[in-house]
Formats: sequence, C-alpha cells, structure tokens
Amino acid sequence: MNLLSPIAYLRGLGPQRALLLQKELQISSFGDMLFHFPFRYVDRSRIDQIRYINPNSQFVQLKGILGPLRQMGDKGGRRLSARLEDETGSIELLWFRGLDYISKSLQPGTEYLVFGKPNWFNGNVNVPHPEIEPATLSARINPLQPVYSTTEKLRRIGLDSRGIRKAQEQLHEIIRPEDLPEYLPGLLMHRCGLLPRYEALRQIHFPDTPALAEEARRRLKFEELFLLQLRILRAKTARQELSSGHLFQQVGENFLKLYENHLPFQLTGAQKRVLREIRHDTLSGKQMNRLVQGDVGSGKTVVALLSMLLAIDNGFQACLLAPTEILARQHLQGISDLLKPLGIPVAFLSGQVKGAARKEILHGLAAGTLPILIGTHAILEDPVRFHRLGLAVIDEQHRFGVEQRARLWAKSTPPPHVLVMTATPIPRTLAMTLYGDLDVSVIDELPPGRKPIRTTHATESMRLRVFDFMKEQIALGRQIYVVYPLIEESEKLDLTALQQGLEALERVFPRPQYHISMVHGKMLPANKDIEMARFVKGETQIMVATTVIEVGVNVPNASVMVIEHAERFGLAQLHQLRGRVGRGAEQSYCMLLSGEKLPEYAKKRIEVMCQTQDGFVIAEEDLRLRGPGDIDGTRQSGDLELRLAKLTEDQELLLAARKEAGELVSADPELRHPDHHPLREYLDGLGREGIWSRIS
Ligand code: ADP
Ligand code: MG
Repeated sequence: MNLLSPIAYLRGLGPQRALLLQKELQISSFGDMLFHFPFRYVDRSRIDQIRYINPNSQFVQLKGILGPLRQMGDKGGRRLSARLEDETGSIELLWFRGLDYISKSLQPGTEYLVFGKPNWFNGNVNVPHPEIEPATLSARINPLQPVYSTTEKLRRIGLDSRGIRKAQEQLHEIIRPEDLPEYLPGLLMHRCGLLPRYEALRQIHFPDTPALAEEARRRLKFEELFLLQLRILRAKTARQELSSGHLFQQVGENFLKLYENHLPFQLTGAQKRVLREIRHDTLSGKQMNRLVQGDVGSGKTVVALLSMLLAIDNGFQACLLAPTEILARQHLQGISDLLKPLGIPVAFLSGQVKGAARKEILHGLAAGTLPILIGTHAILEDPVRFHRLGLAVIDEQHRFGVEQRARLWAKSTPPPHVLVMTATPIPRTLAMTLYGDLDVSVIDELPPGRKPIRTTHATESMRLRVFDFMKEQIALGRQIYVVYPLIEESEKLDLTALQQGLEALERVFPRPQYHISMVHGKMLPANKDIEMARFVKGETQIMVATTVIEVGVNVPNASVMVIEHAERFGLAQLHQLRGRVGRGAEQSYCMLLSGEKLPEYAKKRIEVMCQTQDGFVIAEEDLRLRGPGDIDGTRQSGDLELRLAKLTEDQELLLAARKEAGELVSADPELRHPDHHPLREYLDGLGREGIWSRIS
C-alpha cells in the first residue's frame, strides 16, 4: 500500500467523489485521508430509548422491531417510511434515496439496531437515512464511532461523516504496520510513554477504548510538536553555523554621547538588559537574529536607536524599516531629534521619495556617506545598495514576511544583524514556537510614571454620555481618537460606516468650535499624512480612523480612545489601539462602545480589556479565547500546520516536545546515530511528498 496513491483508487470512491474530496477537503491521496482525523466519537455501546429522544439528541442509537415499509409520494418525491418500535415508543424512519435496495434488504417484523440523527419538524421527529443493521449483527460494531467533518457539497454525494467513515474503513483494511514506520527513537517513545505510530493512527480513527483514543491523540500531537521544534532548532543551528556576522567590537563615541548626555530619560532595567543582549550578539561573530518583544509604549525605539549607534561607531551603516509611511516618518522625526546634537544625518526612503532626491540617497548609501536610513518596504528594493550595512531594524515585524527578511540578508556579506521589534504581545510559549529561529528579548517593564488607562465599556444607549465626556476632555485641551473597525472583505461597507460615523460626529461636534480629521486605508498616502499631521499639530481635536492608527503613531496629547463596535475587534487589536493613548502626563481613557446584546466571547474580551492593561496577560487570554491561529498579526501561526495540537491546551506537551527536541539536537545535531536515521530520512523527505507528510 502506498500512502501517495491517489484517493480515487480507494475502493468505493471513484473519480468524481475523489475530485470533490480534493476540492473541498484537500484530500487527494490515501495519506491525506488517513490524516483527516475525526473530531469526536459517538458512543455506540449505548442504546437510547425512543420515548426519551429530544431536540438536544445529536445522534441516537435505537434497538427495536421494524414495522411495515410504506412507499409514499409520487415520481418527483418518492420516499420510503417505516416505524421502529421499542418498549418505550415508536419513531418514523425515512429514506429518500436507494428505495428499491432498501425495501429489498429490510425485513419488517425483525429486530434492528438503528443509528442516526433525529430530525425535528413541526414537533414531530423522524430519523432520515439511518444506519440500520439486524440486531443480531450488532456485536460487530465498534463501540466508539468516529465523527468526521465534511462539507455540504460532499454530503450531497454521500460523503457525510458516515461516508467518510466508510472510506476510512476501506483504507484501514489495506494499511499494514510497515506502511507507517516509526521514526521517533525508541528511547524517547519509552520516556514519554507514546503509542507506536501505526497504532496511534489506527486508534485515532477506530479506538478500542476512550483511553486509547486519548493516547493516540497524545502521541500524534507530540509528534507534530516535536517535529516542529526539531525543524526550528535545526534551522537555527544551521543558520548559526553558516552565517558569520559583523563584529561590533567597541562601544563608541556616538553611543556614549547619546546615552550619557542627550537622552531625556533613564533607560529602564528591561531596556538595558535587552541592549546588553544585543551587544553580546554583535560581539559573537555570528549573525544576530533577535526579536524584541515589548508592549506598546515600552520604549523599543530608543533601544533600536542605540543599537544603530553601536553599528555606526564600528564603521557600519544601519537602517530601520517600518510597515507604513506614517510610522516611518514618525520614526524619522523622533530619531532625527535625538540625533541632532550628535550631528548624524538621517536619510529617508519610501515610495514617495522620487527623482533627484531618491538618486541622491541611493548614491549616499552606496558610497557610505549616509550612515542611517529610515523608511518603508522601499528599502528592500534591489536598487537600494549599502556600502556596509551592519544592522537592520524591522519595526512591527508581523507585517514583514520571512521572504522580506531574506531580501535584507542579501544587502550585505556577511548578512546584517537583524533586530525585529514587535508590540504584538505573544505569550512566551507561543513566541518560542513561532519565532523559534529567532532569539527573543522581552522588554517587560514600562517607563516609570505612566498612569494606567481607565477602560470602560459603554453600550449604544450610553452614547450621549460618551459624547459629553468627549466634550469635557476637549475642553481640557485633550485630543481624541475614534476608531471604526475595518475588515478587508467588506471594506466598502465599512467605509460607509466610517463616513456615517464622521457625519454623526460632525453634528455633535460642529465647526467652528471643533475640528475633526479622518484617516483610512483607502486614502492616498499624501492625504493621509496631511490629516495625520493636522492631528499631531493639534489643529484637530478628534481623529476618526480605521485601524491604520493601530500601529505605532505617537501623539502624547491624545488621551481618549473611543472604539466603535469594539465587539468586532480581537483582543490583541484592542490592546494595540488602547496603547495609542496613555503616552502623556494626563490621565487617559479608553471607551469600548458596542451594541446591547453581545456574543459571549465578545463580552469576555471586553471584560478582559476593562480588567487589565498587561499585554502578556491579554495575549494569554486571547490565546485561550480564540486559539493561536487567530491572534492578530501572527499569520505565522497558520504556517505551523498543527492539526491536532493546540498551543493553548497542550503547553505541557509542547514543553516536553521542545525539551526532547533540544536534547536530541544537542546530542546528535546531524542525526547520525542509527536510532535517528528514520527521523532524518523523514525530515529530509519533507516537501517532496504529499501534503500529509508535511503535517505528520
Ligand atoms: P514602543 O515600544 O511602543 O515603540 P516608543 O519607543 O515609541 O514605544 O516609546 C514610547 C514613549 O516612551 C516615547 O515617547 C519614548 O520617548 C518614551 N520612553 C522610552 N523609554 C523611556 C524611558 N526609559 N523612560 C521614560 N520614557 C521613555
Ligand atoms: Mg514603536
């Protein structure tokens, strides 16, 4: 048996159904089918009594005497009906297809075991297309029956959960242990108490007992997590061995000057610690790939700047990439201000810098006369060449893919040190999984003296009070953000909402007393900048925006954040938005507006926001509430291809897998030991085989 065989070859399926399986569930080979796991089991050892069937019954298993078969309806809608009776009552069984076959094979008056999904209609109940077998044969039935996810289209051609189960049964009849060789080392399996692979893949579909189903799941989850960690650790080892890095030997003049004379504040302990880590990396002779995680406002920029000075003092250039024009320009502003006393020029590059100005910058970079470049993605373009790029800082990394990181590498030989900064709070366990090939530093301390932001939840009926409060704050000289959700698929619709919101606000906050700016993603960057600039300068009191302000902007006088339709934002996003206020000396506020009736998860999110301001607590909650695949901005989690393991629920297993993988890699990095050959072969084969093998 070959796991790569096309699924069409599986007995009883045929090419048409195979095609749809591939389209709907991406099942195209035997292996894919094998890795389509059931999401739960139905206990078929239990017999239900007919009288107690209720609208909550998902599936029922009944045992009773079959009554006479009756054909009903005309040519267009013929159906077959029969009643099944047990000692507590009777129920109608219904068939719409295959009537001839069914009426021939059933024998009224005998006892049957019936299994199906009850269907309620006008207070009556029936069981359409039940599974039905003579009661005498029922001993054959596996006590735990797998339930598979499927789609409406597949259901229509007989591939409902039951149809898929039949296909799985076919598959399991032809699979032999040698088709699913073990590749985890025996000692490890013993240490961690894992089922053999073949056994696990059999038991997860057709478990002998609930405990074995659980064991099978555990083994397969471990495998996913272990292989993931192993891949990450091996990639890291390979990178460290291959990439030598620039040496930043001295802590020089510029660094010390800024640090000792021109910083308007003392660095926090966390900032100092991260700087030490960076210093250590850049002295190691290897390329640095470090992620600096720090909550909004924790002061990542100054850490980046000091690191850039470290590069410059050692004769290198440095660049800083930001994901948006606005953010890049803000960095330009802030960093230019700080560097003024040092007399270091700062160049700026984005898509908007054109013509002669662009030419001059490209020339200066190539000649080495421009030590610092700040900009957007434009920095990554090919014509941008550096004389000696030593360090690249990437702000808000989740907007930059791995591929872009690779383009940065190509800008210098050896590749520049890379410092990635992110405010997306990611729990540590997840961070080490997502960014396992990066070293992670955490700025887990806010600069002193920040006043906690007061966060409240207000429903629609309290809107007028919210407006009154906004007026009070404006009278005190403060500025306010009002944010609307913007979801990409329905961008048009949301723009209308934004427009209407703006008009409503203009009625409540009329000119000439009040001035309102608006920024959204569909605007031309130049107009966006004009609107932003008006708000930054204090010419407008209210900034109406979509989530474009989510990332990074800094307006210390803005002290109120009003979030419309707060229920439509994810926790991490809400946290990011709130982080836009609370940056100045004034008490800041965040008001979450929503409809009256909220789904439970939305209520929970808003509750969390009102209770805490700690990004890591919020990240943990987010992970718990929604699962890692959904965390805002962490698209990478989708790449993990974890079918069974959940990073939230399986942290213990993740830690065990990580420990085992770490020990294995340090004891035998090349996987040369004979016990590790199957594993190495498996890892080397990744990417050449079907989808299933990447996941398994
Ligand atoms: P983020 O980590 O969100 O990028 P920033 O680097 O923009 O944060 O810093 C937020 C604000 O805090 C800035 O105004 C910055 O000048 C200020 N700041 C940074 N570090 C300190 C510190 N150690 N003490 C006081 N203020 C600081
Ligand atoms: Mg920042």
